[in-house]
Amino acid sequence: MKNVSLDKLIICPECHTLHRRIKLKKAKFAYCDVCEKVLYQCHDDLIEKALALAIATLITFIVASSFSIVEIEINGIWQDLTLPFVFVTLFHEEFFVVGLIVSFLIFFVPLLYIVIYTYVMILLYLGRGYDLTRKLLIVLAMLKPWNMIEIFLISILVALVKLIGYAQITFGVAFGALIVFILLDIYLTKKIQLTDLWDLRDEVFDANR
Ligand SMILES: [Zn+2]
Repeated sequence: MKNVSLDKLIICPECHTLHRRIKLKKAKFAYCDVCEKVLYQCHDDLIEKALALAIATLITFIVASSFSIVEIEINGIWQDLTLPFVFVTLFHEEFFVVGLIVSFLIFFVPLLYIVIYTYVMILLYLGRGYDLTRKLLIVLAMLKPWNMIEIFLISILVALVKLIGYAQITFGVAFGALIVFILLDIYLTKKIQLTDLWDLRDEVFDANR
């Protein structure tokens, strides 16, 4: 493997064997020859697919953060639980550090991630922003580990289970939107890897040069 540029190599996430990347035909997968884990794949119409998914994900995030996730009634008092309400309440109760961390992990990072992702896909679709797409893909890689909105959904479900018997709970529009958002977000970040977007960027700008 001497004199091979780093972006032509890929390491197996399972057994850490180093492989040389080859160009795949559409809809084909590359497997590790040691442990048979999928290393990467060639997606069909990746630009259109990822752009459409990114826009759908952004819309579901706006719905999930604008409307009530659940309505809870305890002793005749109804309370709407919305995404911003969670950290606004934390700040209101003077849990500043927790409020800051929670708002960062469940709101600002997921929002920033999906806005940047959508913008990158629009730029790639239009074949523009050679330098900007490179910088934004680096930002996406830095943000990715901090996107923890799934954990927020799990914590809501745990809290709701504890409230059963004490409170009347009604699921709001944003609850469905939040689940759809998380599923789309997982698909966008796990199924379509950032390396696929780097390859896509190379393809777009090589073709235009
Ligand atoms: Zn392997």
